[in-house]
Amino acid sequence: MFFFDAHCDILSAISEPEEFFTNKHHWDAERALSNGPFIQVLSLFAEGKSEDEIKKKMDAQLATALLTEEKYPERMKIIRKNEELSNWEGSVKSPKIGCIIEAEGAEVLGGSLSELDRLYEAGLRILTLSWNYDNAVCDSIAGNNRHNGLSAFGRQVINRAETLGVVIDLSHASDKTFSDVEEISTKPFIASHSNSRSVCKYRRNLTDKQINSIAKRGGVIGINLCPDFLNNSGNADIMDIIRHIEYISALVGTSCLGFGCDFDGIDSLPAGISGVQDMSRIVETLLRFNYKEEDVKGIAGLNFKRLFNTV
Ligand SMILES: [Zn+2]
Repeated sequence: MFFFDAHCDILSAISEPEEFFTNKHHWDAERALSNGPFIQVLSLFAEGKSEDEIKKKMDAQLATALLTEEKYPERMKIIRKNEELSNWEGSVKSPKIGCIIEAEGAEVLGGSLSELDRLYEAGLRILTLSWNYDNAVCDSIAGNNRHNGLSAFGRQVINRAETLGVVIDLSHASDKTFSDVEEISTKPFIASHSNSRSVCKYRRNLTDKQINSIAKRGGVIGINLCPDFLNNSGNADIMDIIRHIEYISALVGTSCLGFGCDFDGIDSLPAGISGVQDMSRIVETLLRFNYKEEDVKGIAGLNFKRLFNTV
């Protein structure tokens, strides 16, 4: 089966291209590919005291990804074009992993719209508007409501991103940022690594209204494996992952569902999952529960692939 994972922080855990293929973290390319053909969204993610410091670290991570592709073109490819994405599923025998570059926070723009153009040229295809800090573009759900949603600059960024074909990601955004984007955006958007707030009451999860809004526009939600976002007890297993999938499917159907596992961005994993190699265990569980094979293929990867082909 073809897999697509919409969120992984491995670039902040490694410094050499060689570590990308095998390491002791949650995620490496070899274990990802043990599931089947695989596309991984690689997050540029950093903490820091200033937007400047965060941007510098993100730029360094992008450089690591580009160097990995340059040194090992037969093993890793950064996907930049629709055709490259469309043909990926067919390369079952190829041991190559497909990657899409995402920035987890508009700090990466350094406050400049032309920087978005430069990053697009380098390979950026998803912009997660914020992480846990408010930034020049918008407020985070964990922030202090600095702009009350999107800033004026943020509105320019949404327009420019949509023109370029950069997908807007609303995981971590404040509820007001979410509704502002909903109002001005003209393309489907995603929540790359967020679950249902009705199933697990955590501010980072999505309300039913937000889930409906993403689904109605043809967007996709990536299920996050963080135990704290799966279950209010903080102890989760594969059944908790299934519970979020069940709930969202009942609400809006399965075509807006995918994975955004958050490997190497979270400290602990649900029981039964020790790394990316176990993604197929979730899919096997869905099949055992009589989910239609077609729907399971969508959740495993085809729904996100469709979304990226559209945007
Ligand atoms: Zn995150």
